[in-house]
Amino acid sequence: MQPYKSYCFLGSSGVGKSTIVNRLKGQTALKTSAISDSTNKGRHTTSHRELLLLPNQSIVIDTPGMREIGMTDQSKGLEQTYDEIIDLAHDCKFHDCTHTHEQGCAVTEAVSEGSISEEAYNNYLKLKREQEHFSSTVREKRQKGKAQGKLYKAIQTERRKNKY
Ligand SMILES: [Zn+2]
Repeated sequence: MQPYKSYCFLGSSGVGKSTIVNRLKGQTALKTSAISDSTNKGRHTTSHRELLLLPNQSIVIDTPGMREIGMTDQSKGLEQTYDEIIDLAHDCKFHDCTHTHEQGCAVTEAVSEGSISEEAYNNYLKLKREQEHFSSTVREKRQKGKAQGKLYKAIQTERRKNKY
């Protein structure tokens, strides 16, 4: 890693991004937690972004897991996978139909008629919930990102002043 350049580690939660950063920094700056054997899932270790100035003057931007980054573009995937449900949704009585309890919902009707499998329907609802949850966390993170941007600028200004 070269001085005065910014770096960003990408990877699934638990693969060891924070551990690498800690090694680089020469001290335990970020909390890490071991991968749980029973579930084989890495526990979430980085819950917020952090900007670190390493001893050699390079900058590391620590980010949450890759999975979250990949999910921003999932509305498209959801539509492709569940074309049929999306098409049907146009026939719902209410345009903001959640396709769960509404009267005149074309989707739940199709499920009860059997033209859409209950499994596909449940998967659709599950994905939709995950996506909604994720969009709201992205919004929160963007707010935090702005604050991070200010910090980054402050560092750059400081460097210029001190002629690094
Ligand atoms: Zn509906």
